[in-house]
Amino acid sequence: MPIDARLPYDEANIFAKILRGEIPCKKVYEDDFALAFHDIAPKAPIHVLVVPKGPYVSWDDFSANAPDALIAGFIRAVGTVARQFDLVEPGYRLLANIGHDGGQEVPHLHVHLFGGAPLGPMLA
Ligand code: AMP
Repeated sequence: MPIDARLPYDEANIFAKILRGEIPCKKVYEDDFALAFHDIAPKAPIHVLVVPKGPYVSWDDFSANAPDALIAGFIRAVGTVARQFDLVEPGYRLLANIGHDGGQEVPHLHVHLFGGAPLGPMLA
């Protein structure tokens, strides 16, 4: 079920549990601002999720309320992960789903990073 991106942050969401180390993930990158791990149901040869280390429901919440240093650090982390997978030359795709029409399921901001093959049309 897609979430309502206006809801308050839910500390029990699955990515909050991953950030707290309560459930495992296949980590690919971590710094002070972000954690990146493989999506559990990959939709491309490379499908990584990058999440900021802070209690933000969605891109809307994050862009409005996160401190500048976290926004900068998170954006840089996304780029670092793409370079870590050597995706700059072949190219890749970033996606953030927000709220109901965006199809957002997990109420903690995450950017999907897809790559490893031509990704086809922007929307199915
Ligand atoms: P979204 O629809 O943008 O909220 O996407 C949520 C994504 O999280 C989906 O692609 C799921 O496959 C992925 N996902 C859900 N639970 C986990 C988990 N425990 N570890 C890794 N990825 C997950």
